Amino acid sequence: MTAPFQPLVDPHGRTVRDLRISVTDRCNFRCTYCMPEEGMRWLPRQEVLTFEEILRVARVCVERFGFDGIRITGGEPTVRAQLPVLIEKLATLRIPATGQPVDLAMTTNGATLGLLAHDLRRAGLSRLNISCDTLRPERFEAMTRRAQLDRVLDGIHAAIDAGFDPVKVNIVTIRGVNDDEVVDFATFGRQLGVQPRFIEFMPLDADERWSMDQVLPSDEVVAAINAVYPLEAVAHGPEPASRYRYLDGQGEIGVIASVTHPFCGDCDRIRITAEGQLRNCLFAVRETDLRAVLRGGGTDDDLAGAISGDVARKWAGHSIGKVHFIRPSRSMSQIGG
Ligand code: SAM
Ligand code: SF4
Repeated sequence: MTAPFQPLVDPHGRTVRDLRISVTDRCNFRCTYCMPEEGMRWLPRQEVLTFEEILRVARVCVERFGFDGIRITGGEPTVRAQLPVLIEKLATLRIPATGQPVDLAMTTNGATLGLLAHDLRRAGLSRLNISCDTLRPERFEAMTRRAQLDRVLDGIHAAIDAGFDPVKVNIVTIRGVNDDEVVDFATFGRQLGVQPRFIEFMPLDADERWSMDQVLPSDEVVAAINAVYPLEAVAHGPEPASRYRYLDGQGEIGVIASVTHPFCGDCDRIRITAEGQLRNCLFAVRETDLRAVLRGGGTDDDLAGAISGDVARKWAGHSIGKVHFIRPSRSMSQIGG
């Protein structure tokens, strides 16, 4: 018998069912569109949620509200020690409506997957997105401030070898930086059997250099690939990516048009930061302190109440590019993308 659960519906009628968990604010890269080169101030270890605390938040979301998806992110999640142990614990959670395991995914820069991919798979991770914005070593070093393209490519191969299917490759496409590699990534994806996911650059870079003219609209990405490898649209599901498949059957691509075609109307997610702040939108300016509930002796009811109270404030959507847009004070690595 599974316990009764109450779906979490926000004021705009969207059912929230997906939890993004940042397990660390730290990272072994310094991507220009995310972190500053120097001067990041890391959270002291005691401020970061323990595995037990993370598991408790996740369990409440799944058991009380019927969440069916969890994505692990960061910072760089693989720099958190013993990550497969956390995955193993999360993999024991069961969706109340079906009794099935939750869909357990992770976003990583891939640099250590050569060592970790098999352990993560064995621990119960079901899906992997690996971020890689360029296939050119010098450009990779300029974009990530690390000369580690080879390690990331090894990581992609290790993920395939470990049985992750499909492996998705996240590419933040920035005009004037890597917009000339769109078709190269399509070719790469077709050859390896991985799915490129082109993400529009969002104003979440710590250096605050984002500007609208650096955003490469997803429509341009689709048009460039379609001219070489004809595509057709796949029916849109709840995920943020719009998907297209190749007419010759050689796989598919996704585009995440967060800026030019926001998908806020379908948003089904909330996030917790590494220090346990609940954010009901990537661009939220208010947070709910779940760590205070966890460490203040709060019960599961208290935790569930704090989560539903925050979701009750979820707004209809962000307004990037409009005059009233307020930039969050956190960068992407501090939020958990
Ligand atoms: N470190 C991991 C990684 O890079 O995959 C996980 C965390 S990272 C913050 C999650 C995703 O956010 C990555 O795919 C990254 O490329 C993307 N990202 C970071 N900053 C971004 C920005 N300003 N605009 C759009 N996407 C961004
Ligand atoms: Fe690190 Fe990921 Fe941000 Fe790059 S995008 S600096 S890998 S957290």
